[in-house]
Amino acid sequence: MAEKVTLVGGGLAGSLMSIYLAKRGYEVYIYERRADMRSGNYVGGRSINLALSTRGIRGLAKVGLDQEVLDISIPMTGRMMHPVQGDLKYQPYGKEGQAIYSVSRGQLNIKLLQLADQYPNIHMFFNYKCTAANLETCETTYTNENGETVVDKADVVLGTDGAFSALRDAMQRTPRFNFSQNYENYGYKELEIVPDANGEFQFDKNCLHIWPRKSFMMIALPNPGGNFTCTLFMPFDGNPGIDDLKTPEQITVFFNTHFPDAVPMMPGLVDDYLQNPTGMLTTMRCYPWVKGTNALMGDSAHAVVPFYGQGMNCSFEDCIVLDECIEELGGDWASVLDAYQKLRKPNADAIANLALQNFVEMRDLVGSDAFLHKKKVEHTLSEKHPDLFVSQYERVTFSTRDYAEALAYGELNDRVLESIIQNGWEERLDDRAFVETLFADNK
Ligand SMILES: Cc1cc2nc3c(=O)[nH]c(=O)nc-3n(C[C@H](O)[C@H](O)[C@H](O)COP(=O)(O)OP(=O)(O)OC[C@H]3O[C@@H](n4cnc5c(N)ncnc54)[C@H](O)[C@@H]3O)c2cc1C
Repeated sequence: MAEKVTLVGGGLAGSLMSIYLAKRGYEVYIYERRADMRSGNYVGGRSINLALSTRGIRGLAKVGLDQEVLDISIPMTGRMMHPVQGDLKYQPYGKEGQAIYSVSRGQLNIKLLQLADQYPNIHMFFNYKCTAANLETCETTYTNENGETVVDKADVVLGTDGAFSALRDAMQRTPRFNFSQNYENYGYKELEIVPDANGEFQFDKNCLHIWPRKSFMMIALPNPGGNFTCTLFMPFDGNPGIDDLKTPEQITVFFNTHFPDAVPMMPGLVDDYLQNPTGMLTTMRCYPWVKGTNALMGDSAHAVVPFYGQGMNCSFEDCIVLDECIEELGGDWASVLDAYQKLRKPNADAIANLALQNFVEMRDLVGSDAFLHKKKVEHTLSEKHPDLFVSQYERVTFSTRDYAEALAYGELNDRVLESIIQNGWEERLDDRAFVETLFADNK
């Protein structure tokens, strides 16, 4: 009889992993706390759209969903910076033809669930909230919408239940389980830039728009309907602080002062601000990710702040790596899960750090001429010597090499860039031998 794998949570990682497992012939059970999104009653909990990049696309390609998802996505080839006054500034993310893709979280999850539904060995249960887990017996307990308690027993349990994972809760009560959770003093509000009277985008749709304001920022990602989902990230109790904007007047004055070009396109601004929940930003790390034949994946193992646009991409990569471990090590689950956690943990830690670093870059540095000059030098180097220089952003976003490698090379890149800029060597970048020496000297 085929082994049974239970997935706690049918979000992005859970629904993708279920398909990988079904293709390998396992009996797969998914228990999802929310209602079935496909029935149309999906209420987006957080972030309406997400930036999908190379790692995530690779995860989807393994189940043949990449093109279908790209077809409902909008490519963003670079950042468009909006100063309070003055001209917009554009900075490409990578080389010609490289882009990240804005996709609806709900639609992506629905596509994955629709595909999962085509496998007779995937069994999905919605409105089932996991309330307990016995890590020794692989039994997980659920409360369903009728208030009934249901116990599931499996050979393997995977916690794909997000940042506030019930499976991780059970692991936290076992000896030698490390866990840390750090909240930023920042909250976020989702808002909207609407289409114009003809249903068209009011800003360039192929960019991720940023309004960097040093201690806070707003970003906007395009949606296929001609609108943008905006997210304001701001300290809770700073000056200005998210908690200080309480009245329609305060909100209007604040946005007119800091985002004057966007306000006329945000007719629902005050209502959205007052009615939409304030999201929180947290980094969660833990280890081990495996206890017996129970394992954590995606945000349950490593919730990161969203500033590199990699949480989902990294979670899809977890699925790829676990699948590769199964391929390599067969049905020996102890070895499979151990290999998986050892391969992924350093990379999860690296992307957590990279995401924190990128927050400073996005809200503060991208607005400055010095930063844009540095990016230009970076771009020239990677165009002229693609084998010598790959920017950290490209390594993270447009490659599938380890995040840990991107973090390490980023530091070397920074030293090289600093020496070029400080010494005014921008004119010497055609000289390959010179660039090689720079790298050697800065190692
Ligand atoms: C504001 C914001 C912007 C983001 N932008 C990006 C981006 O641009 N690019 C990117 O790659 N990532 C982004 N992310 C990160 C991304 O959302 C997550 O990394 C990704 O959703 C993780 O997938 P997951 O399946 O592990 O968790 P989730 O998507 O959270 O799915 C977990 C699932 O488990 C279910 N569940 C939870 N508890 C239980 C329970 N007790 N019982 C049963 N089911 C349960 C939930 O209902 C949910 O369906 C962003 C995150 C935020 C907050």
